[in-house]
Amino acid sequence: MLELRPTCEQCNKALPPESSEAMICSFECTFCRDCVDLLQNVCPNCGGGFAPRPVRPARDWKNGNSLQRYPATTHVTYKPVVLEDHAAFAVAPGSLPPTQR
Ligand SMILES: [Zn+2]
Ligand SMILES: [Zn+2]
Repeated sequence: MLELRPTCEQCNKALPPESSEAMICSFECTFCRDCVDLLQNVCPNCGGGFAPRPVRPARDWKNGNSLQRYPATTHVTYKPVVLEDHAAFAVAPGSLPPTQR
């Protein structure tokens, strides 16, 4: 299940569960859309691409599958990278579409 991390790993901007700006890689490294652009859609931790993070329903529409029973984590993961260093790392993975990395 997604942790729904509370902030962008690069700029620490708040990304609440309902945010439409939250982007995640397959390992759930979480960034805002602006930082995904700065990172050239290359995750600094795994080299994968990003996709919009789904919004978990706040209300219990069915079987308790909502934020009420499965709340977002409050643990902040904030470990910004130096963009110049990242650009060097991103050359190889960024040369391929995410589906071919
Ligand atoms: Zn950000
Ligand atoms: Zn990643």
